Amino acid sequence: MTLPSASTRLIALLGDPVEHSLSPAFQNAALRATGLDAVYVALRCDAASLAGLLRGIARAGGAGNVTVPHKEAAARLVERRTEAVELTGACNTFWSDGEEIWGDNTDVAGFRAAVHSLLGAPPAGARVVVIGAGGAARAAVAGLAADGAGEILLFNRTPERAIDLARGFGRLGTSVQVLQSAGATGADLVVNATSLGLRPGDPMPLDESSASRCSAALDLVYAPGGTPWVRLLRERGIPAADGREMLLQQGAAAFQRWWGTPAPLAVMRSALSGG
Ligand code: NAP
Repeated sequence: MTLPSASTRLIALLGDPVEHSLSPAFQNAALRATGLDAVYVALRCDAASLAGLLRGIARAGGAGNVTVPHKEAAARLVERRTEAVELTGACNTFWSDGEEIWGDNTDVAGFRAAVHSLLGAPPAGARVVVIGAGGAARAAVAGLAADGAGEILLFNRTPERAIDLARGFGRLGTSVQVLQSAGATGADLVVNATSLGLRPGDPMPLDESSASRCSAALDLVYAPGGTPWVRLLRERGIPAADGREMLLQQGAAAFQRWWGTPAPLAVMRSALSGG
């Protein structure tokens, strides 16, 4: 491996917390495999430091990712926004074209690729239930709309947030129907876009009998060996995947933005699985 030199580009993940992020492992593996002169680091940063760090890194020829809790603030900071940023109000990837600082939300591309991988095809015409109404749910709804899902049904613990999300997408021409209960309907796909499953003892995002009315399930939360929900559904014969593929694919889409070349996906996948 080449040691960093005076020409090495800095690619930084900005967020808080970042200590447990898996991105440095697979992004640095990708940099090594492609021989690019850059290093990917995770920088814990508070809200007051975000603007200075993001702009400073981009103006110095670097680039990066943004994670919780700064994705919405980053969307306001960048000077040029992709459609994914406009649709979701969130930015997780930034870079400079020499003139302006650009922002993308590659969670949308990552979600679309993960759904494709799970179903074997894009969800065109599909009936999809999304549980949650935060940033991950926005990326999911934007991805489903881009792939022509037939019906997008949204449930959230706090109904006002679901109504707000549905209204926002409605104004942009995507119809999202808000459900009073996530378990009342069957679907071709159910997506967990809540943070349930992160902590031991969390309840399931959707109970087993309701989930069994769905043909497939994608959990955006990830855990070694799959989340408890994914493991339970798989035991019941329902095709289910956790959020690792989305994580990998959002990273691959970011790599492509930074370098203008496709990411070495196999290398990144192997680094993500600890290989
Ligand atoms: P967020 O904006 O904070 O939203 C959290 C969502 O979870 C809200 O809908 C919230 O409901 C719901 N929630 C939290 N605790 C709950 C509980 N006890 N019962 C029911 N609902 C609960 O977070 P986010 O950015 O959307 O991220 C959500 C999860 O997606 C994260 O934990 C992360 O693991 C995952 N994610 C994965 C990827 C990936 O690449 N795989 C990318 C982004 C996010 P209320 O509105 O009622 O509070």
